[in-house]
Amino acid sequence: MTDLTKLTLSEARDGLVAKDFSATELTQAHLKAIEAGNDDLNIYVLPTPDVALAQAKASDDRISKGTAGVLEGVPLGIKDLFCTRGVRTTACSKILDDFKPTYESTVTQNLWDAGAVMLGKLNNDEFAMGSSNENSAFGPVVNPWRRKGSQDKLVPGGSSGGSAAAVAAGLCLAATATDTGGSIRQPASLTGTVGVKPTYGRCSRYGIVAFASSLDQAGPITKTVRDGALMLKVIAGHDPKDSTSVDVAVPDYEAGLQEGVKGLRVGVPKEYRIDGMAEEVASLWEQGIAWLKDAGAIIHEISLPHTKYALPAYYIIAPAEASSNLARYDGVRYGLRVPGKDLIDTYEETRAAGFGAEVKRRVLIGTYVLSAGYYDAYYLKAQKVRTLIKGDFDAAWNTVDVVLTPTTPTPAFAFGEKSGDPVQMYLEDIFTVTVNMAGLPGLSVPAGLSGEGTPLGLQLIGKPFDEATLLRAGQTIENAAGRFPIPERWWV
Ligand code: GLN
Repeated sequence: MTDLTKLTLSEARDGLVAKDFSATELTQAHLKAIEAGNDDLNIYVLPTPDVALAQAKASDDRISKGTAGVLEGVPLGIKDLFCTRGVRTTACSKILDDFKPTYESTVTQNLWDAGAVMLGKLNNDEFAMGSSNENSAFGPVVNPWRRKGSQDKLVPGGSSGGSAAAVAAGLCLAATATDTGGSIRQPASLTGTVGVKPTYGRCSRYGIVAFASSLDQAGPITKTVRDGALMLKVIAGHDPKDSTSVDVAVPDYEAGLQEGVKGLRVGVPKEYRIDGMAEEVASLWEQGIAWLKDAGAIIHEISLPHTKYALPAYYIIAPAEASSNLARYDGVRYGLRVPGKDLIDTYEETRAAGFGAEVKRRVLIGTYVLSAGYYDAYYLKAQKVRTLIKGDFDAAWNTVDVVLTPTTPTPAFAFGEKSGDPVQMYLEDIFTVTVNMAGLPGLSVPAGLSGEGTPLGLQLIGKPFDEATLLRAGQTIENAAGRFPIPERWWV
């Protein structure tokens, strides 16, 4: 039989419908791959084989009865930021310890309602803060891709490093992820996978451990654009449990995928041609422009003049919201408790022991910029910058339908290469944070290999709630680039 872990989500769906294999066989193949690869790659922080096999059996029953859902029997990985009822959820922080939620996130519930199977919980940067997955309490994830002729370990990007690496390595068919400033798109770019960050409000945030509530969005990481379309359709939609989720119709994204980009107006923002962009990234961007043009799109140079303020403003707003959201981890309500001599001391001891260095840095920055003397100078100013960034995009939509940029300024980097200098690490997010600041949908599609033989992605940015056009343009790039290669399996 073919290697079932090499199938895409849509191929697996079709194979299950055609009864080429059972959900149990498909799940077993992935559980075997996890067993073989997880020691080397550190992708799953909690495999859940018992849950997976029980769900797969139920799927096989529904398939034989003819009552299959749209994702019936497909095995997925779940970022450990999504609450899963009765299954340990830690956000990869020591502070949540052995926390087992008594409720299920809406996004994962939607997946189970469609028949999907959970293989386990995936590694990520602690509380989704990071761009390399080196900030996890469970240790870093290893990128399945390596540089040509080298055995050095590379980071998979972050914070959804486990999700992206799992999909790239065939340790699940697709994965859930979250994106506050790039955490779906950046790891997708560094692992040769497709990442969709939907419009703010498209997917419910209910039951997702909060980082920065005005920026956080859930989305899929998949092997192909089609798989992203398929999964987004299932997870998107209005949810009364999240007052920021928006009640707009969710189209059938898969249906329009091959319609092409004839006449589509594509914006290329001049401010994204930054100093220090790797030469290969710049030439891939040119290649992407040429592909879309050849397919009939009309290319416009555009200006997004406030781009240079996006990163500093993001690193004020995101920590401010994080410092407030993380106040709940006090040693009383959740997980870890380190008893002190009184209540205040218990708070302090618990938070000192439970949070990692980057999370502490964010809480300190966030508390500082929200404090009475600095609120206007930093926080309020950053919010004004955010409005200006949104205004840049609003103006751009008068002349273009989508915007094309690189996803990341560099390909995957080595362990330790940037972790010693937070500013270097924050610069990874330079092309992705604007999208969250403006609440827009963004997609990263693998488009080529670096000179070192590692993946590089292109980013498409769309109008609010226009994920359909984004996916259609992404499909055009994928068609032109060809089915992306899978990394050589050195870990088995
Ligand atoms: N790398 C960014 C940060 O550390 C974005 C993370 C994310 O999108 N969750 O804040």
